[in-house]
Amino acid sequence: QSFDWNALASEFAGIETITEPTQVAKLSLDYYHFSPVLQPLLEDKRGNLVVRPQTEAEVLQVARICVKHKVPLTIRGAGTGNYGQCIPLHGGVILDTTRMNGIRWIKRGKTCVEPGVKLAAFDKQARKIGWEWRMVPSTYRSATIGGFIGGGSGGIGSINYGQLRDRGNLLAVRVVTLEDEPRVIELRGDDVQKVNHAYGTNGIITELEVPLAPAYAWVEVIVIFDNFITAAQFGQALGDADGLVKKLISIHAHPIPTYFSGLKQYLPDGKHGALLTIAESCLEPFQELVREYGGEITYQKSAQDGSKGTSLAEFTWNHTTLHARSIDGTLTYLQTFFFTLERVEKLYDHFGDEVMMHLEFLRVNGQAIPAGLQLVRYTTEERLNEIIRYHEEQGAFIANPHTYILEDGGRKTIDVEQVQFKEQVDPYGLMNPGKMRGWEERE
Ligand code: FAD
Repeated sequence: QSFDWNALASEFAGIETITEPTQVAKLSLDYYHFSPVLQPLLEDKRGNLVVRPQTEAEVLQVARICVKHKVPLTIRGAGTGNYGQCIPLHGGVILDTTRMNGIRWIKRGKTCVEPGVKLAAFDKQARKIGWEWRMVPSTYRSATIGGFIGGGSGGIGSINYGQLRDRGNLLAVRVVTLEDEPRVIELRGDDVQKVNHAYGTNGIITELEVPLAPAYAWVEVIVIFDNFITAAQFGQALGDADGLVKKLISIHAHPIPTYFSGLKQYLPDGKHGALLTIAESCLEPFQELVREYGGEITYQKSAQDGSKGTSLAEFTWNHTTLHARSIDGTLTYLQTFFFTLERVEKLYDHFGDEVMMHLEFLRVNGQAIPAGLQLVRYTTEERLNEIIRYHEEQGAFIANPHTYILEDGGRKTIDVEQVQFKEQVDPYGLMNPGKMRGWEERE
């Protein structure tokens, strides 16, 4: 006998509930299609209905109903993840957090927000009093803070603060459990790692305390180079220059700049490009560094004009892949920590045009290191795995974006603490089932 989803929907009385199939289908998917491997695995996955609670009390009500009927519950922020993080593998209820978008407070260096707060909308408020997020993904205009913590890793700002999982980048969370009698648990200190980047498999985050960064007057700059390795060395030097305040160092080997239709006039054919965000107060010494490396500045957008037009940030991180795929849909990508420029050079020479070099510099254990989201001319899954293997043999670390399994992406090992927390708060395994290997394979 099939489950009566309409009857279930009526139990959510008072909470916005969506059952209309095309809308439910839309709210079931994310940007998994960047991966030709995930595409066939996830394209037909759907939830049965969507709920949009507005308060923690309503979240508790949703949790209670899901537990009573033992139906899966998958949390969704803006649905901009790339690995199907929020795609329900086994149907059930989709809990959309976008109506929980209140900012509780912003004070010196930290904030307390609800999970559905959009990253860009928050920055607009916080900058009025001199603060902003420490880091944002290139999807900051639509992505939510809950989704960034749940399924993201880092981005613009990571050159200063590292990644979301680094200690200090998340201060506290409140989570709703899926026990017979759902509870609210507050996690602080290292305990936040129990739910940090867990794909919503072990608790519904209803509130977050997040540290902030001082908001500088940021200038966007494009610098071009004749030689890719020089561009990469320039990126490293800028990353290492402690006196130069920056937020983004994104380096693109030819022919990647040719995919940026909107930036054509600043990225002449054949050149390699650096897309940067620099503090206005540092522009003069920054220009000296550009000169030292023989670069040429072709574009500069002042802090004042910051909100006008498309931001350069929206050509970096995985937006690079987005632009490239809009021109050539056969392209896909990798996420790689190279750690050294020698390794970047070796892999650049080895793969040539098959793996186009896109570097993002970020801070790891106090050092600026080259990481990247290279574009791959996809042929077969076997070849893709061969490319990944070769990178690993050379000592690079690949956070594989072609899997929806939490541990098979960036982590590689089972996080015992996260699994144990799931045993405690989700004893029936209802939360985003099928994503956490450590849970699926226990015993
Ligand atoms: P969703 O995709 O809706 O959710 C992500 C995960 O978090 C899901 O597993 C979901 O279940 C879980 N989740 C959501 N809310 C909660 C909650 N309240 N409690 C518990 N779990 C929850 N990512 C980066 O890290 N850096 C980048 O630079 C970056 N660039 C991107 C560029 C493009 C073009 C695209 C398509 C994606 C990019 N991403 C990037 C991935 C993604 O956009 C970000 O990680 C984003 O922050 C996810 O937020 P979201 O609201 O869309 O989350």
